[in-house]
Amino acid sequence: MQQFQQYIGGVFSDGSARFESRDPATGEVWAMMPEARAPDVDAAVAAARAAFHASDWAGMTATARGKLLYRLADLIAENTETLAQLETRDTGKIIRETSAQIAYVADYYRYYAGLADKIEGAHLPIDKPDMEVWLRREPLGVVAAVVPWNSQLFLAAVKIGPALAAGCTVVLKASEEAPAPLLEFARIFDQAGFPAGVLNVITGFGADCGAVLTAHPGIDHIAFTGGPDTARHVVRNSAENLASTSLELGGKSPFIVFEDVDIDSTVNAQVSAIFAATGQSCVAGSRLIISNQIKDVFLRSLKEKAERVRIGAPQMAETEVGPLCTDAQMRRTVELVAASLAAGARIVTGGQPLEGEGNFFPPTILDCSSAPDAPCLREEFFGPVLSVCGFDTEAEALALANDTAHGLASGVFTRDLTRAHRMIRGIRAGIVWVNTYRAVSPIAPFGGQGLSGHGREGGLQAALDYTRVKTVWLRT
Ligand code: NAD
Repeated sequence: MQQFQQYIGGVFSDGSARFESRDPATGEVWAMMPEARAPDVDAAVAAARAAFHASDWAGMTATARGKLLYRLADLIAENTETLAQLETRDTGKIIRETSAQIAYVADYYRYYAGLADKIEGAHLPIDKPDMEVWLRREPLGVVAAVVPWNSQLFLAAVKIGPALAAGCTVVLKASEEAPAPLLEFARIFDQAGFPAGVLNVITGFGADCGAVLTAHPGIDHIAFTGGPDTARHVVRNSAENLASTSLELGGKSPFIVFEDVDIDSTVNAQVSAIFAATGQSCVAGSRLIISNQIKDVFLRSLKEKAERVRIGAPQMAETEVGPLCTDAQMRRTVELVAASLAAGARIVTGGQPLEGEGNFFPPTILDCSSAPDAPCLREEFFGPVLSVCGFDTEAEALALANDTAHGLASGVFTRDLTRAHRMIRGIRAGIVWVNTYRAVSPIAPFGGQGLSGHGREGGLQAALDYTRVKTVWLRT
């Protein structure tokens, strides 16, 4: 059985306790993980605080910090296979997705490596001849980064990259559900040559580890990704020492299709928008909002393609949909489908877990045209379930798209660009993809509004958000 360790102050250790990690494709316990409790959290925060003030980090030039981040990016690229295999084993995410995602994780570190020495202050033209006034940008301090189990190397990169570029130090808490990839990442980080304590990686349970970390008086900022209920705890915890927060939460993203699209390519886009990562993606296009003029023909093709998706062992190159990561995720999916059927939704395909071992749930489509109150239209599944409703007018399409408390991503499919512009203006979401879906780049900010949280990851602004401005007045 594989053993993993936590990483605090440049030292690997076992943690206060150990817990088991299961392979979601087989149910087999395959590794033992270090469980961080309050003493480990204290040690990690103390190490990050000491590193923040230590001359080898505080005195390092921004260009030198950038060079270390470039080295880290290269090491990640060299270790793609190991990281991808561990992520696939621990989370059940299919190997072709984990391998592809790790390639762009390295790109994100490269982007922030290049940004490190471009985080500039400013000189202010104050109306006083004997006064020089300028703004210094200084790092926020110690950052608590808390991430879920899905896309965790990516979600950690969009926090660690800008935070270190800005000169902060970080305590990263990996999810207890599948921490292997981030604990292995700590080993890779250790080889990059950063001073001890600049990054500390721990894992443990919400109450004993996450809550202690986010309420810790030694933390200056919390960068959190997870569900809205946990986010509420995190915000309450942050009130202890008034730490700032950025929150990347769930979604119920609309995928809006007008009657003028190319049906075949748009169906393909919808299949990957909802079934990639077995639906366990915050930006999953989980509500198909489709013109009634093409609904029947579109659904026929969608059903066919959904039924052809290859479900299987996540390690196999040909697999397109793997298992759900946890038993809890499986239970939630089953219960939410049942509640939606009770509310009048109709199964187009799927709907029942597959028999046999592992958390396999097939691609599922629920037609909610006669069930406007079905919970599947409002609650995030975090599973491979698509809810469908039809519209007759553009105004109706927009109203359906905005009928959600979330506001993360959205997709608009039409050949009519003036209509696309009206939809872009009207949609309440942090991202609008037009005639494409799930496109990401280190240069483009990413984030939501409403129950999808606040703050942005990716792009220049994310690095600036890890700094605060100091105003300097100098009489000359
Ligand atoms: P979760 O909220 O249960 O857990 C996320 C993290 O918070 C874990 O590390 C967990 O241990 C920790 N945590 C739990 N209780 C805590 C507490 N009281 N205080 C501090 N930390 C605590 O989320 P999950 O089920 O692991 O992940 C799925 C959720 O994450 C979904 O809602 C999904 O949409 C969201 N997500 C959002 C994005 C985004 O970028 N917007 C990306 C991926 C996932």
